[in-house]
Amino acid sequence: MKGFSSFVRLLSEVGDILAPRRCALCGKRLMAGEDFLCLSCLSELPFTRYFGRKGNPVERLFWARIPVARANAYLFYFPESMVSRLFLSLKYGNRPHYGQALGAMMAAELSDTDFFDGVDAIVPVPLAQKRLRKRGYNQSEKLAEGISSVTHLPIFTRAVERVVANPTQTQLTRTERRENVADVFMLSRPELLAGKHLLLVDDILTTGSTLMACAEEMAKAGDVKISILTLGLAGKHGEGPELHPETINYGREAFVR
Ligand SMILES: [Zn+2]
Repeated sequence: MKGFSSFVRLLSEVGDILAPRRCALCGKRLMAGEDFLCLSCLSELPFTRYFGRKGNPVERLFWARIPVARANAYLFYFPESMVSRLFLSLKYGNRPHYGQALGAMMAAELSDTDFFDGVDAIVPVPLAQKRLRKRGYNQSEKLAEGISSVTHLPIFTRAVERVVANPTQTQLTRTERRENVADVFMLSRPELLAGKHLLLVDDILTTGSTLMACAEEMAKAGDVKISILTLGLAGKHGEGPELHPETINYGREAFVR
């Protein structure tokens, strides 16, 4: 086996020479041991460092409105920053593998915690068919694939569908946003979800209204428990979320510790 693994390493080194792997952010050639992002870009990412802890700011955001078992976000999202390029490329730039890589990264961070305990399956927030055809993939589904590669949890992609591509939320108040997404989702396979603990996955948490609408629709299956995991959390610098200002500090403190 030893000979085989050094042969595989040799192959990957040869592959690296022929088609060098490059950092998704700075484009620099990746060194051995680096994957997807170079260590320098990785160290610059604004991690929330919530580590899925009970009572973290993302959980508290949902507690007041819908019952969630657990909730977590991996990165703070700052518009027009380095990190925003990752999100934009994943969503609009035809980079499905970014989702798989980032999904695996966030699952790896949580796999040492009890965050996934009791979870039966992953449900990516669905895209409307029209948008899916245009983009070619659902970014949340790609994140789910990355999470599944670490956790081995199954992914349910057709249990809940998005029947309306909701219009932009930017100019709406909080109440209008909730109304805006109220009938966007439709539970199509309740028998698949009933009685299960489901991990709802999305690329970015802004106000939470989309995730809440989706979770409420899933809850109609009966006896479901819902946890939420997003790649990004749009902080107070972004447009939107009604988060307590200490949310950002919470991450910083954890970073220093
Ligand atoms: Zn880099």
